[in-house]
Amino acid sequence: MNRRNEVLRAVAEAAKILTEFPTGNRTSFDIVGAITERGIPLLFRPLENLLGTVVAIGGISGIMVTTQRDLHVQRFTLAHELGHILLGHQLSLDRTIEVAGRNAPAARPVEEVAADTFASELLGPKRLVMESAKRQGWTKQKLHQPDNIYQLSLRLGISYQAACWALVTSKVLSSSQAKGLQGAPVKNQKQALAPTEFIVNSWADVWALTKADTETSLEAGPDDLFAVHVQDHASAGYLWQLVDTGSSAKIVGERCPNPDFAYGEQSTRVVYVRFNDRGKHRLVFEHLRPWNKATLDHIEIDVDGHGKEHVGHARRFRLEAVARAA
Ligand SMILES: [Zn+2]
Repeated sequence: MNRRNEVLRAVAEAAKILTEFPTGNRTSFDIVGAITERGIPLLFRPLENLLGTVVAIGGISGIMVTTQRDLHVQRFTLAHELGHILLGHQLSLDRTIEVAGRNAPAARPVEEVAADTFASELLGPKRLVMESAKRQGWTKQKLHQPDNIYQLSLRLGISYQAACWALVTSKVLSSSQAKGLQGAPVKNQKQALAPTEFIVNSWADVWALTKADTETSLEAGPDDLFAVHVQDHASAGYLWQLVDTGSSAKIVGERCPNPDFAYGEQSTRVVYVRFNDRGKHRLVFEHLRPWNKATLDHIEIDVDGHGKEHVGHARRFRLEAVARAA
């Protein structure tokens, strides 16, 4: 099997699926949605030594993915397995998945390189990279900085390393630059954004949000921290405030940002928010005069804070079943 041809086939298949399932307000591709809409059986199991596999039952190919890894690994594995099915590959048991896609070492089997490439092209395509870059004001140069690559990775719903390689496909980075950048510890990016005591565990991500994120829909983890950068027009009496929309948003703390930190627009304050429960939330901030509620501006962001999938069927199937039974 010719590696180049198989990679090209994977790129074409991913482009087809991207057209078939538009992302709407989401910053990331809805991989669970695409798999279920295609009628492909999908199951999550606590697989210890496997990330995922394609299983054939009665002539129908289904996907099984581990619950033992985080949201971003699950998503990349789901896309990799979908790639195997759409490319008509032999069944495979995936112990490793290579986020470098077509840039993987020559020793990696061709079918695996193709499935990796499919996953990278589907979850980190140039179009989604550019959409986030445009919204955030990330120039090509800014996308050479680990802090911005980390924020891009969160918006795409892939790991920091996978985002480095997506930037190679988008011709923002060279492979040698990606190799150099992918080793930067994500922990450093988190700690540059938030005091350590606000980060509840090592899996929790820290999102840097600004007004630029308004009207987007983000897929996050239940413990993720949202560092909302706001600039108050204090002289005119306006302050940014978290609006209580009946959700479980809680302000964890507030800080003046590090003056060296160049994320997004100039900000006067960073308000740290976390949600108390799993589920779908709407994060709403208003720039208002507290005494008369005159509003100058607002930030509204949808957050799906369920995080990774748990044992059984995909979450939305279970939620639909509950809704039908209610
Ligand atoms: Zn595979």
